Amino acid sequence: MDHKKLTILGSTGSIGRNTLDVVSRNPDRFSVHALAAHSNHELLARQVEEFRPALAVLFDEEAAGRLKELRPNGGRTAVAWGMEGLLEAAGAAEVDQVVAGMVGAAGLLPTHAAVSAGKQVGVANKEVMVLAGELMMNLARQTGAVLLPVDSEHNAIFQCLNGEDGAQAERIILTASGGPFLDLPREKFISITREQALRHPNWNMGPKITIDSATMMNKGLEVIEARWFFGLPPEQISVLVHPQSIVHSMVEFVDGSVLAQLGLPDMRVPISYCLSYPERLPLDLPRLNLGAVRNLEFREVDHERFVCLSLALRALKLEGGVPAALNGANEEVVAAYLAGGFPFHRIGSILEEVMEHLEQELNPAGPTPAVKERPDEALTPGYLKHIATVDDAVAADGHGRKLALRIISQAANT
Ligand code: MG
Repeated sequence: MDHKKLTILGSTGSIGRNTLDVVSRNPDRFSVHALAAHSNHELLARQVEEFRPALAVLFDEEAAGRLKELRPNGGRTAVAWGMEGLLEAAGAAEVDQVVAGMVGAAGLLPTHAAVSAGKQVGVANKEVMVLAGELMMNLARQTGAVLLPVDSEHNAIFQCLNGEDGAQAERIILTASGGPFLDLPREKFISITREQALRHPNWNMGPKITIDSATMMNKGLEVIEARWFFGLPPEQISVLVHPQSIVHSMVEFVDGSVLAQLGLPDMRVPISYCLSYPERLPLDLPRLNLGAVRNLEFREVDHERFVCLSLALRALKLEGGVPAALNGANEEVVAAYLAGGFPFHRIGSILEEVMEHLEQELNPAGPTPAVKERPDEALTPGYLKHIATVDDAVAADGHGRKLALRIISQAANT
């Protein structure tokens, strides 16, 4: 494997830090061209000091100013900010591979820039695939970009499909830990605290994805992500609860054979696979001991308690911009929840209202949604029916955000 130059989008987050850990274990294989983060200038300064990239970007301009003042790497690293800075980092000519590790729809444009520039792109930022998965896959075919799934489930499926004829895969089985409330009875959901929701049993991740895991919206987004990554229709993608998070996902083939990828839950494994693909790199981490694990459990999802997963599947069925709108709504609802806006169980019910509203917009003859439409939104916007451009994806995302914010504020006023 040749030496690779990397851009890491979201370097101060969980994916970014794990990526840099893999890089630091393989200094002969990888170097860093650019590091980009939202606003954590102190951690980014330490990362710049250690990895000495040519470029460091902070989305927040004020934080970029503070980073400049710190003069990490003796001031030899250029500092940029804003979306312009992110796009520069993602599309730079020197870069072989971009790790898309930002959170949420904010990663759409930088990832699009990397795919447009024909890079290898390790996609951890699943919202990008939810917003514009079909567009990204088509664009990659045109530019020669290679999209590699970092998400542990999709990485597992990607590994199971390696060397296989994808047309002979009959079904993808995404495993789900079920999050912290897997065994909590429905009537107790009303007393869930934020601390409980932020405590994932198996994975240590950022707050947004941790809440998504607790509601199981994360699994819904992953089904949509899988639909585009692997080109399978929704009916060939299923979800199975597996509380131990050892089997990271499975593929069932036409002959009934099921292949699975197993390992301890550690994001450095899928990250390393994406960085070194199609090779594997030695990785000195604790190893899976099935004799010690002893039990691997599997069960069906309870859709009544985890309504968010069903909502994502409903959105996927409608396709077009509906998944993007639901994703945008989810980001707003989760942000408002984290800010202390309402109790945990309301996340699902607010998003259900959003979904009913979207369905109504696409099918005006259907049941009337609980939130009254405004006259200026009486027509179905084209982007809800079809995402043809990145701007459509941005518009659909914004549409969902607006709906969610309206429902949140109406609920707060009653
Ligand atoms: Mg995952």
